[in-house]
Parts: sequence; C-alpha cells; structure tokens
Amino acid sequence: MRWEDFRRSDNVEDRRGAGGGFGGGGGFRGGGLGLGGLIVVGLLAWATGINPAILLGGAEAIFGEGRQTQQEAPAARTGAPSDQLGQFASAVLAQTEDVWVELFKAQGKTYEKPRMVLFSGATRSGCGAAQSAMGPFYCPLDQKVYLDLSFFQELKDRFRAPGDFAAAYVIAHEVGHHVENQIGLLAKVQERQRQASREEANTLSVRVELMADCLAGVWAYHANDRFRILEAGDVEEALNAATAIGDDTLQKRSQGYAVPDSFTHGTSKQRSTWFTRGLKTGSMQQCNTFQGAI
Ligand SMILES: [Zn+2]
Repeated sequence: MRWEDFRRSDNVEDRRGAGGGFGGGGGFRGGGLGLGGLIVVGLLAWATGINPAILLGGAEAIFGEGRQTQQEAPAARTGAPSDQLGQFASAVLAQTEDVWVELFKAQGKTYEKPRMVLFSGATRSGCGAAQSAMGPFYCPLDQKVYLDLSFFQELKDRFRAPGDFAAAYVIAHEVGHHVENQIGLLAKVQERQRQASREEANTLSVRVELMADCLAGVWAYHANDRFRILEAGDVEEALNAATAIGDDTLQKRSQGYAVPDSFTHGTSKQRSTWFTRGLKTGSMQQCNTFQGAI
C-alpha cells in the first residue's frame, strides 16, 4: 500500500508509553500495576473465554452506558506521531477523512472526523476501560477509535494476516463504525438490541460489523481512486485478514467448533464478501446489511 507520500491526520491522541501521557493515570501503568497487571488482564481474558486477540471482536462494537461523563482525558500528545507505525496509522486515518468528507458532502451532509487514540496496554475510553486484549474498537460516546498498534504484530504472527493493507483494513473497519454512528445507525441498533433476545441481538451485531467491513471496502475503492494506494497483493492482504477474523474461524481456533448463534461479527466468508462488495462498487448504498439475507 502507498501511504508515505500522503498527509498525516492530526486527529491522533498518542497515549503510548513514557512521555505519551500514560503518567496521567490513563491506564494500568499509570496506575502503578505495571507489567504484572497486564499479565493478569491477559490471564483473565483467557479464563473468561474472551479471546485476548478477538480482533475487531468481543467488546469491539461496544456502546457503553453513558459512562463518559466522568471521564477525564489523560494528558496525551495530539497530532501525528513520529514513529513509523504511528505515522502509518495517522496516514491511513487521514485517507479515511479525505474520502468520507467527500462522500458525506456528496449527500449534502457533514462528516465529523473521529479521533484515534493510540495506547499501549490499557487506557480509559468514553465507553469504559480499554485494554489491548479487547482488540481495536470504536466508542460512539466519545467518537474515538482505540488502537494498540501491537495488534498489527499479533495479526501477523498469530493470525497469519500480515501486510500493511491488512492493518489499513482494520483501521478502515473501525472508522466504518464511526460512519455508522454519524448516520444514526448505531443508536437505532442499540435501541433494538435492548428489546431483543440474545440471538437477535447477536444477529444485529453481525449486521453492524458486516456493514463496517463493507464501508471499509468503500473507503478502499475511493482512496485508491484518488490516491492510487493499492499495490499488488494489497486486496489479498485485506481479504486474508477479514477471513482470519471471522467468527467461525476464531471459534474453531479457540474451541475447536463454531456456534453460529453466538456470532457477533460474521463468518469469514461473510466478512470477505461484504468487504469485497464495498471495494467493487465504492457505494455506501451497497452496504445496507439490514435488508435481506447476509
Ligand atoms: Zn467492528
């Protein structure tokens, strides 16, 4: 993927490590728990059956319960980070901004840009505590994407989904949730989930996730149209990642079998199909996962 030559977004809050604002009490390290605390968190995640690398999973489509009011934002550097991975993430974020601003404008709407919080280990979010083990996620209450960049290493090592465009797909998927929030979809879904059975709520969640995958594809279409970002193998990288983090594949990996009713993100096939649909058409209208079969 080509990204070096393009602009970086300043809508990045860097809460990583020393000097990154962690000393402000933003997480376990700031709170003095240190590495031991992080290991305990990891063990807890395993013990409770939450795959620590559930990727785009688990608590990822979280809505929170309005807990953001008391949140004190930890001190953080704002603006594009200087390290390579941070630069990459802010370049991808910038490309999502450019594309979605245009697409919203074409519909007579204004796109409010989300913020991206880079953290290591744990931090606070408007939707509650954020931990690396939860994987990247979007919080609609503070309109921020939370991302521990070490996740991309995990994507490569544990899930055999390497490549910069696989990482870009993950970011674009989270931004896809922000788009869903901007068009009022997340609030409606949350309302419906309150009255739904567990299975129905899960199905609604799958539809939300597949739409985010499709919107990531729409972004890729327009980013490539505008910036020619795609290089040989990029699309395969994203499809490989989408496949690696399908519910069926993840469940088979962790427990040996898949339980469709418990799916919250969609199967490998569904995820790659919806991403492809967005990528081929570049049309948001093609991403309505709430109509008909998925
Ligand atoms: Zn998601």
